[in-house]
Amino acid sequence: MQVWKFGGTSVGKPERMRSIRNLITADSTRKIVVLSALSGSTNALLAIGESLKTSNDDDATTKIDALRAHYDTFVSELYATEAGKAAGLQIIESEFSFIRSLAGIKPFTVKQEKELVAEGELLSTQLFQAYLVEEGVASTLLPALDFMRIDADNEPEIQVTEQILAEMLPAHDDKQIIVTQGFICRNPRGEVDNLKRGGSDYTASLIGGAVRADEIQIWTDIDGMHNNDPRIVKNTFPVRELTFDEAAELAYFGAKILHPSTITPARMFGVPVRLKNTMEPAAPGTLIADRTSSEVFKAVAAKDGITALYIHSTRMLNAYGFLRRIFEIFEKYKTPVDMLATSEVSVSVTIDNTERIQEISEELSAFCTLEEPDYDQTIICVVGNFSADNEGVALKVFKAMENIPIRMISYGGTESNLSLLVHSKYKVDALNALNDGLFAR
Ligand code: ASP
Ligand code: MG
Repeated sequence: MQVWKFGGTSVGKPERMRSIRNLITADSTRKIVVLSALSGSTNALLAIGESLKTSNDDDATTKIDALRAHYDTFVSELYATEAGKAAGLQIIESEFSFIRSLAGIKPFTVKQEKELVAEGELLSTQLFQAYLVEEGVASTLLPALDFMRIDADNEPEIQVTEQILAEMLPAHDDKQIIVTQGFICRNPRGEVDNLKRGGSDYTASLIGGAVRADEIQIWTDIDGMHNNDPRIVKNTFPVRELTFDEAAELAYFGAKILHPSTITPARMFGVPVRLKNTMEPAAPGTLIADRTSSEVFKAVAAKDGITALYIHSTRMLNAYGFLRRIFEIFEKYKTPVDMLATSEVSVSVTIDNTERIQEISEELSAFCTLEEPDYDQTIICVVGNFSADNEGVALKVFKAMENIPIRMISYGGTESNLSLLVHSKYKVDALNALNDGLFAR
Protein backbone atom coordinates (compact mmCIF):
# COMPACT_ATOMS: atom_id res chain seq x y z
CA MET A 1 0.00 0.00 0.00
CA GLN A 2 1.17 3.52 -0.81
CA VAL A 3 -0.24 6.86 0.29
CA TRP A 4 -0.31 9.59 -2.36
CA LYS A 5 -1.21 13.17 -1.52
CA PHE A 6 -2.18 15.80 -4.07
CA GLY A 7 -2.20 19.51 -3.19
CA GLY A 8 -4.61 22.24 -4.18
CA THR A 9 -3.07 23.09 -7.55
CA SER A 10 -2.94 19.40 -8.47
CA VAL A 11 -6.72 19.14 -8.12
CA GLY A 12 -7.61 22.79 -8.83
CA LYS A 13 -8.63 22.39 -12.48
CA PRO A 14 -10.71 19.67 -14.15
CA GLU A 15 -7.83 18.76 -16.47
CA ARG A 16 -5.47 18.41 -13.51
CA MET A 17 -7.94 16.10 -11.77
CA ARG A 18 -8.08 14.03 -14.93
CA SER A 19 -4.31 13.71 -15.04
CA ILE A 20 -4.27 12.61 -11.40
CA ARG A 21 -6.70 9.87 -12.26
CA ASN A 22 -4.23 8.67 -14.89
CA LEU A 23 -1.29 8.90 -12.50
CA ILE A 24 -2.85 6.88 -9.70
CA THR A 25 -3.98 4.11 -12.02
CA ALA A 26 -0.81 3.98 -14.16
CA ASP A 27 0.31 0.93 -12.16
CA SER A 28 -1.70 -1.53 -10.08
CA THR A 29 -0.31 -0.59 -6.63
CA ARG A 30 -3.07 -0.01 -4.07
CA LYS A 31 -3.16 3.57 -2.94
CA ILE A 32 -4.76 5.75 -0.35
CA VAL A 33 -5.16 9.05 -2.16
CA VAL A 34 -5.26 12.10 0.11
CA LEU A 35 -6.58 15.30 -1.46
CA SER A 36 -6.42 18.96 -0.48
CA ALA A 37 -9.18 21.39 -1.33
CA LEU A 38 -9.19 22.87 -4.86
CA SER A 39 -6.65 25.72 -4.94
CA GLY A 40 -8.16 28.92 -3.56
CA SER A 41 -11.09 27.18 -1.84
CA THR A 42 -9.69 27.14 1.69
CA ASN A 43 -8.88 30.86 1.46
CA ALA A 44 -12.33 31.56 0.02
CA LEU A 45 -14.01 29.62 2.83
CA LEU A 46 -11.97 31.46 5.45
CA ALA A 47 -12.95 34.77 3.85
CA ILE A 48 -16.62 33.76 4.09
CA GLY A 49 -15.99 32.92 7.75
CA GLU A 50 -14.47 36.37 8.33
CA SER A 51 -17.57 38.06 6.90
CA LEU A 52 -19.81 35.93 9.11
CA LYS A 53 -17.75 36.61 12.23
CA THR A 54 -18.16 40.33 11.70
CA SER A 55 -21.87 39.89 10.83
CA ASN A 56 -21.40 41.05 7.24
CA ASP A 57 -24.04 38.65 6.01
CA ASP A 58 -24.46 40.26 2.58
CA ASP A 59 -20.73 40.00 1.98
CA ALA A 60 -20.83 36.37 3.03
CA THR A 61 -23.68 35.63 0.64
CA THR A 62 -21.86 37.28 -2.27
CA LYS A 63 -18.75 35.22 -1.51
CA ILE A 64 -20.70 31.98 -1.15
CA ASP A 65 -22.42 32.62 -4.51
CA ALA A 66 -19.08 33.26 -6.20
CA LEU A 67 -17.59 30.05 -4.78
CA ARG A 68 -20.68 28.11 -5.82
CA ALA A 69 -20.35 29.43 -9.38
CA HIS A 70 -16.73 28.25 -9.43
CA TYR A 71 -17.82 24.72 -8.50
CA ASP A 72 -20.66 24.76 -11.04
CA THR A 73 -18.17 25.44 -13.81
CA PHE A 74 -15.81 22.81 -12.42
CA VAL A 75 -18.52 20.16 -12.48
CA SER A 76 -19.69 21.08 -15.96
CA GLU A 77 -16.12 20.63 -17.24
CA LEU A 78 -14.97 17.60 -15.23
CA TYR A 79 -17.54 14.98 -16.13
CA ALA A 80 -18.15 13.59 -19.59
CA THR A 81 -21.47 11.86 -19.00
CA GLU A 82 -24.90 13.14 -17.93
CA ALA A 83 -24.81 10.73 -14.99
CA GLY A 84 -21.43 12.09 -13.92
CA LYS A 85 -22.59 15.71 -14.15
CA ALA A 86 -25.72 14.87 -12.15
CA ALA A 87 -23.63 13.19 -9.43
CA GLY A 88 -21.27 16.17 -9.29
CA LEU A 89 -24.13 18.63 -9.12
CA GLN A 90 -25.77 16.72 -6.31
CA ILE A 91 -22.52 16.89 -4.30
CA ILE A 92 -22.23 20.65 -4.64
CA GLU A 93 -25.95 21.15 -3.98
CA SER A 94 -25.70 19.28 -0.73
CA GLU A 95 -22.41 20.86 0.47
CA PHE A 96 -23.51 24.39 -0.41
CA SER A 97 -26.83 23.98 1.33
CA PHE A 98 -24.81 22.97 4.41
CA ILE A 99 -22.55 26.02 3.95
CA ARG A 100 -25.62 28.28 3.77
CA SER A 101 -27.08 26.68 6.89
CA LEU A 102 -23.79 27.29 8.74
CA ALA A 103 -23.92 30.91 7.63
CA GLY A 104 -27.30 31.23 9.32
CA ILE A 105 -26.03 30.24 12.77
CA LYS A 106 -25.67 33.17 15.19
CA PRO A 107 -23.21 33.83 16.67
CA PHE A 108 -20.79 32.36 14.17
CA THR A 109 -18.12 30.74 16.36
CA VAL A 110 -14.81 28.93 15.91
CA LYS A 111 -16.73 25.65 15.83
CA GLN A 112 -18.75 26.77 12.80
CA GLU A 113 -15.65 28.22 11.20
CA LYS A 114 -13.92 24.85 11.38
CA GLU A 115 -16.91 23.11 9.85
CA LEU A 116 -16.94 25.71 7.11
CA VAL A 117 -13.25 25.40 6.24
CA ALA A 118 -13.55 21.58 6.16
CA GLU A 119 -15.90 21.94 3.18
CA GLY A 120 -12.94 22.47 0.82
CA GLU A 121 -11.63 18.94 1.28
CA LEU A 122 -15.13 17.45 1.55
CA LEU A 123 -15.97 18.91 -1.86
CA SER A 124 -12.72 18.02 -3.66
CA THR A 125 -12.73 14.38 -2.52
CA GLN A 126 -16.40 13.72 -3.30
CA LEU A 127 -16.08 15.30 -6.74
CA PHE A 128 -12.96 13.23 -7.42
CA GLN A 129 -14.55 10.00 -6.21
CA ALA A 130 -17.59 10.65 -8.43
CA TYR A 131 -15.20 11.13 -11.33
CA LEU A 132 -13.45 7.82 -10.56
CA VAL A 133 -16.87 6.16 -10.53
CA GLU A 134 -17.65 7.69 -13.91
CA GLU A 135 -14.33 6.34 -15.18
CA GLY A 136 -14.98 2.86 -13.78
CA VAL A 137 -11.97 2.89 -11.41
CA ALA A 138 -12.30 0.44 -8.48
CA SER A 139 -12.31 3.02 -5.71
CA THR A 140 -14.04 4.17 -2.57
CA LEU A 141 -14.15 7.29 -0.39
CA LEU A 142 -13.22 6.85 3.28
CA PRO A 143 -14.22 9.90 5.34
CA ALA A 144 -11.21 11.28 7.23
CA LEU A 145 -13.58 12.47 9.95
CA ASP A 146 -14.13 8.79 10.81
CA PHE A 147 -10.47 8.05 11.55
CA MET A 148 -8.37 11.23 11.93
CA ARG A 149 -8.28 12.50 15.53
CA ILE A 150 -6.43 15.13 17.51
CA ASP A 151 -6.11 15.24 21.29
CA ALA A 152 -6.67 18.15 23.67
CA ASP A 153 -3.23 19.58 22.78
CA ASN A 154 -4.09 19.44 19.05
CA GLU A 155 -1.67 16.56 18.58
CA PRO A 156 -2.74 13.83 16.13
CA GLU A 157 -3.65 10.50 17.72
CA ILE A 158 -1.95 8.17 15.30
CA GLN A 159 -2.76 5.02 17.33
CA VAL A 160 -6.46 5.78 17.03
CA THR A 161 -6.07 6.22 13.28
CA GLU A 162 -4.12 2.98 13.09
CA GLN A 163 -6.80 1.05 14.98
CA ILE A 164 -9.77 2.41 13.09
CA LEU A 165 -8.13 1.97 9.70
CA ALA A 166 -7.19 -1.61 10.57
CA GLU A 167 -10.90 -2.24 11.14
CA MET A 168 -12.14 -0.26 8.15
CA LEU A 169 -9.73 -1.18 5.37
CA PRO A 170 -10.36 -4.93 4.98
CA ALA A 171 -13.90 -4.19 3.75
CA HIS A 172 -12.31 -2.43 0.76
CA ASP A 173 -9.75 -5.04 -0.27
CA ASP A 174 -11.26 -5.11 -3.74
CA LYS A 175 -10.57 -1.40 -4.30
CA GLN A 176 -7.32 -0.23 -5.86
CA ILE A 177 -7.91 3.37 -4.86
CA ILE A 178 -9.08 4.69 -1.51
CA VAL A 179 -9.77 8.41 -1.55
CA THR A 180 -9.77 10.53 1.61
CA GLN A 181 -9.55 14.12 2.80
CA GLY A 182 -6.35 15.79 3.92
CA PHE A 183 -6.31 18.46 6.63
CA ILE A 184 -9.56 17.63 8.45
CA CYS A 185 -10.05 15.61 11.63
CA ARG A 186 -12.11 15.48 14.83
CA ASN A 187 -11.10 16.87 18.22
CA PRO A 188 -11.76 15.25 21.63
CA ARG A 189 -15.20 16.91 21.74
CA GLY A 190 -16.09 15.08 18.54
CA GLU A 191 -16.21 18.35 16.61
CA VAL A 192 -14.81 18.91 13.14
CA ASP A 193 -11.30 20.33 13.42
CA ASN A 194 -8.15 20.48 11.30
CA LEU A 195 -4.37 20.07 11.27
CA LYS A 196 -3.73 23.76 10.48
CA ARG A 197 -2.97 25.36 7.12
CA GLY A 198 -1.11 23.08 4.76
CA GLY A 199 -2.08 20.11 6.94
CA SER A 200 -2.86 17.70 4.12
CA ASP A 201 0.80 16.71 3.89
CA TYR A 202 0.66 15.87 7.56
CA THR A 203 -2.49 13.77 7.03
CA ALA A 204 -0.72 11.77 4.33
CA SER A 205 2.24 11.09 6.58
CA LEU A 206 0.03 10.14 9.54
CA ILE A 207 -1.94 7.71 7.41
CA GLY A 208 1.25 6.38 5.84
CA GLY A 209 2.62 5.70 9.32
CA ALA A 210 -0.65 4.25 10.60
CA VAL A 211 -0.94 1.70 7.78
CA ARG A 212 2.86 1.15 7.54
CA ALA A 213 2.73 2.14 3.90
CA ASP A 214 5.55 1.14 1.58
CA GLU A 215 5.90 4.76 0.55
CA ILE A 216 4.28 8.16 0.98
CA GLN A 217 4.26 10.37 -2.09
CA ILE A 218 3.55 14.08 -1.83
CA TRP A 219 2.61 15.45 -5.25
CA THR A 220 2.92 19.21 -5.76
CA ASP A 221 3.73 21.53 -8.62
CA ILE A 222 7.49 21.72 -8.05
CA ASP A 223 10.09 19.10 -8.75
CA GLY A 224 11.00 18.25 -5.16
CA MET A 225 12.93 20.12 -2.49
CA HIS A 226 15.49 22.46 -3.92
CA ASN A 227 18.98 22.93 -2.59
CA ASN A 228 18.28 26.63 -2.02
CA ASP A 229 15.42 29.13 -2.31
CA PRO A 230 14.62 29.36 -6.05
CA ARG A 231 12.91 32.75 -5.52
CA ILE A 232 16.19 34.25 -4.35
CA VAL A 233 18.98 32.21 -5.88
CA LYS A 234 19.55 31.34 -9.52
CA ASN A 235 20.67 27.84 -10.51
CA THR A 236 19.02 25.90 -7.72
CA PHE A 237 18.33 22.23 -8.36
CA PRO A 238 16.17 19.52 -6.79
CA VAL A 239 17.87 17.47 -4.11
CA ARG A 240 17.55 13.80 -5.03
CA GLU A 241 17.89 12.26 -1.57
CA LEU A 242 17.56 13.52 1.97
CA THR A 243 17.52 11.79 5.33
CA PHE A 244 14.49 12.27 7.57
CA ASP A 245 16.58 14.56 9.79
CA GLU A 246 17.73 16.71 6.90
CA ALA A 247 14.22 17.00 5.50
CA ALA A 248 12.77 17.88 8.91
CA GLU A 249 15.30 20.69 9.33
CA LEU A 250 14.55 22.03 5.86
CA ALA A 251 10.79 21.81 6.26
CA TYR A 252 11.01 23.73 9.51
CA PHE A 253 13.52 26.27 8.26
CA GLY A 254 11.62 27.75 5.43
CA ALA A 255 11.54 25.26 2.56
CA LYS A 256 7.83 25.93 2.10
CA ILE A 257 7.15 22.77 0.12
CA LEU A 258 6.24 20.57 3.11
CA HIS A 259 4.17 21.11 6.25
CA PRO A 260 6.89 21.09 8.96
CA SER A 261 5.38 18.19 10.94
CA THR A 262 5.10 15.92 7.92
CA ILE A 263 8.37 14.11 8.47
CA THR A 264 7.69 13.04 12.07
CA PRO A 265 5.21 10.17 11.57
CA ALA A 266 7.02 8.92 8.46
CA ARG A 267 10.29 8.79 10.34
CA MET A 268 8.66 7.15 13.36
CA PHE A 269 7.57 4.20 11.23
CA GLY A 270 10.44 4.33 8.73
CA VAL A 271 8.17 5.01 5.75
CA PRO A 272 10.03 6.76 2.91
CA VAL A 273 8.54 10.00 1.61
CA ARG A 274 8.88 10.93 -2.05
CA LEU A 275 8.18 14.45 -3.27
CA LYS A 276 6.90 14.44 -6.84
CA ASN A 277 5.80 16.97 -9.43
CA THR A 278 2.37 16.49 -11.05
CA MET A 279 3.48 18.63 -14.01
CA GLU A 280 6.49 16.37 -14.59
CA PRO A 281 5.60 12.93 -13.26
CA ALA A 282 8.62 11.21 -14.81
CA ALA A 283 11.11 13.42 -12.92
CA PRO A 284 12.64 11.63 -9.92
CA GLY A 285 11.73 14.31 -7.34
CA THR A 286 13.17 14.05 -3.84
CA LEU A 287 13.34 10.85 -1.80
CA ILE A 288 13.35 11.27 1.98
CA ALA A 289 14.41 8.10 3.76
CA ASP A 290 16.54 6.62 6.48
CA ARG A 291 19.78 6.60 4.55
CA THR A 292 22.21 9.25 3.32
CA SER A 293 23.56 9.78 -0.11
CA SER A 294 27.19 10.71 -0.45
CA GLU A 295 27.17 14.47 -1.03
CA VAL A 296 28.21 16.50 2.00
CA PHE A 297 26.05 19.57 1.42
CA LYS A 298 22.41 18.94 0.66
CA ALA A 299 20.59 22.23 0.92
CA VAL A 300 20.28 25.68 2.43
CA ALA A 301 17.09 27.24 3.79
CA ALA A 302 16.28 30.48 5.55
CA LYS A 303 13.74 31.47 8.17
CA ASP A 304 12.89 35.15 8.60
CA GLY A 305 11.20 37.03 11.39
CA ILE A 306 13.60 35.85 14.07
CA THR A 307 14.39 37.75 17.27
CA ALA A 308 17.58 37.16 19.25
CA LEU A 309 17.65 37.59 23.03
CA TYR A 310 20.90 38.01 24.94
CA ILE A 311 20.75 36.84 28.54
CA HIS A 312 23.62 37.36 31.01
CA SER A 313 24.07 35.99 34.47
CA THR A 314 26.43 37.44 37.02
CA ARG A 315 26.30 34.13 38.82
CA MET A 316 26.62 31.57 36.10
CA LEU A 317 30.18 30.66 37.01
CA ASN A 318 29.85 27.22 38.57
CA ALA A 319 26.09 27.67 38.80
CA TYR A 320 23.77 24.86 37.89
CA GLY A 321 20.08 25.22 37.28
CA PHE A 322 20.57 28.53 35.45
CA LEU A 323 19.55 27.15 32.05
CA ARG A 324 16.61 25.34 33.59
CA ARG A 325 15.32 28.58 35.13
CA ILE A 326 15.63 30.34 31.79
CA PHE A 327 13.86 27.65 29.82
CA GLU A 328 11.07 27.31 32.34
CA ILE A 329 10.14 30.87 31.53
CA PHE A 330 9.98 30.17 27.80
CA GLU A 331 7.93 27.09 28.57
CA LYS A 332 5.54 29.03 30.80
CA TYR A 333 4.84 31.45 27.95
CA LYS A 334 4.66 28.66 25.34
CA THR A 335 7.40 30.27 23.28
CA PRO A 336 9.64 27.83 21.42
CA VAL A 337 13.35 28.54 21.21
CA ASP A 338 14.93 27.88 17.80
CA MET A 339 18.64 28.49 18.23
CA LEU A 340 20.83 28.56 21.26
CA ALA A 341 24.40 29.60 22.04
CA THR A 342 26.01 29.57 25.46
CA SER A 343 29.15 30.86 27.12
CA GLU A 344 30.20 30.60 30.74
CA VAL A 345 28.29 33.75 31.71
CA SER A 346 25.61 34.17 29.11
CA VAL A 347 23.06 32.52 26.86
CA SER A 348 21.72 33.75 23.54
CA VAL A 349 18.50 32.34 22.18
CA THR A 350 16.31 33.03 19.19
CA ILE A 351 12.53 32.95 19.02
CA ASP A 352 10.13 33.53 16.15
CA ASN A 353 7.05 34.24 18.23
CA THR A 354 7.44 37.55 20.08
CA GLU A 355 3.88 37.74 21.44
CA ARG A 356 5.00 37.14 25.04
CA ILE A 357 8.42 38.76 24.84
CA GLN A 358 7.46 41.43 27.36
CA GLU A 359 6.49 38.97 30.09
CA ILE A 360 9.46 36.73 29.30
CA SER A 361 11.88 39.66 29.60
CA GLU A 362 10.35 40.78 32.88
CA GLU A 363 10.67 37.36 34.47
CA LEU A 364 14.21 36.88 33.15
CA SER A 365 15.21 40.24 34.59
CA ALA A 366 14.63 38.86 38.07
CA PHE A 367 17.89 36.90 37.86
CA CYS A 368 19.63 37.99 34.64
CA THR A 369 20.61 41.11 32.79
CA LEU A 370 19.22 41.40 29.31
CA GLU A 371 20.71 43.22 26.37
CA GLU A 372 18.44 44.91 23.80
CA PRO A 373 17.00 42.15 21.59
CA ASP A 374 17.95 42.06 17.90
CA TYR A 375 14.86 42.02 15.71
CA ASP A 376 14.68 41.30 11.95
CA GLN A 377 17.06 38.40 12.05
CA THR A 378 17.20 35.40 9.72
CA ILE A 379 18.32 31.88 10.49
CA ILE A 380 20.29 30.38 7.64
CA CYS A 381 20.24 26.64 7.96
CA VAL A 382 22.80 24.57 6.06
CA VAL A 383 21.79 20.94 5.85
CA GLY A 384 24.13 18.08 5.07
CA ASN A 385 26.52 15.63 6.62
CA PHE A 386 28.25 17.47 9.46
CA SER A 387 29.44 14.42 11.38
CA ALA A 388 32.60 15.12 13.34
CA ASP A 389 34.81 12.89 11.19
CA ASN A 390 33.83 14.87 8.12
CA GLU A 391 36.75 17.30 8.28
CA GLY A 392 36.71 20.81 6.92
CA VAL A 393 32.97 20.96 6.37
CA ALA A 394 32.34 23.87 8.73
CA LEU A 395 35.30 25.67 7.23
CA LYS A 396 33.67 25.55 3.79
CA VAL A 397 30.51 27.14 5.20
CA PHE A 398 32.44 29.93 6.91
CA LYS A 399 34.63 30.50 3.88
CA ALA A 400 31.49 30.97 1.76
CA MET A 401 30.13 33.37 4.39
CA GLU A 402 33.39 35.32 4.77
CA ASN A 403 31.89 38.70 3.83
CA ILE A 404 28.68 38.36 5.78
CA PRO A 405 28.39 39.40 9.43
CA ILE A 406 27.22 36.47 11.55
CA ARG A 407 25.38 37.04 14.88
CA MET A 408 25.16 33.52 16.16
CA ILE A 409 26.19 29.96 15.21
CA SER A 410 24.68 26.64 16.15
CA TYR A 411 26.67 23.54 15.28
CA GLY A 412 26.51 20.05 16.72
CA GLY A 413 22.84 19.98 17.74
CA THR A 414 22.48 17.24 15.17
CA GLU A 415 24.93 15.86 12.65
CA SER A 416 22.80 17.19 9.86
CA ASN A 417 22.81 20.92 10.26
CA LEU A 418 24.74 24.07 10.90
CA SER A 419 22.66 27.18 11.54
CA LEU A 420 23.79 30.78 11.29
CA LEU A 421 21.95 33.87 12.44
CA VAL A 422 22.33 36.98 10.29
CA HIS A 423 20.47 40.26 10.03
CA SER A 424 17.69 39.83 7.48
CA LYS A 425 19.25 42.47 5.24
CA TYR A 426 22.08 39.98 4.53
CA LYS A 427 19.79 37.06 3.70
CA VAL A 428 19.93 37.35 -0.09
CA ASP A 429 23.72 37.74 -0.03
CA ALA A 430 24.12 34.85 2.39
CA LEU A 431 21.97 32.44 0.35
CA ASN A 432 23.82 33.37 -2.83
CA ALA A 433 27.24 33.17 -1.21
CA LEU A 434 26.45 29.71 0.15
CA ASN A 435 25.16 28.60 -3.21
CA ASP A 436 28.37 29.68 -4.91
CA GLY A 437 30.57 28.29 -2.15
CA LEU A 438 28.88 24.95 -1.51
CA PHE A 439 27.00 24.00 -4.64
CA ALA A 440 28.98 25.47 -7.56
CA ARG A 441 28.55 22.99 -10.38
N1 ASP B 1 -6.65 23.03 2.23
C1 ASP B 1 -5.81 23.26 3.39
C2 ASP B 1 -5.05 24.55 3.21
O1 ASP B 1 -5.18 25.21 2.20
C3 ASP B 1 -4.91 22.12 3.67
C4 ASP B 1 -3.88 21.83 2.60
O2 ASP B 1 -4.03 22.24 1.46
O3 ASP B 1 -2.88 21.17 2.91
O4 ASP B 1 -4.33 24.93 4.08
MG1 MG C 1 0.73 22.38 0.86
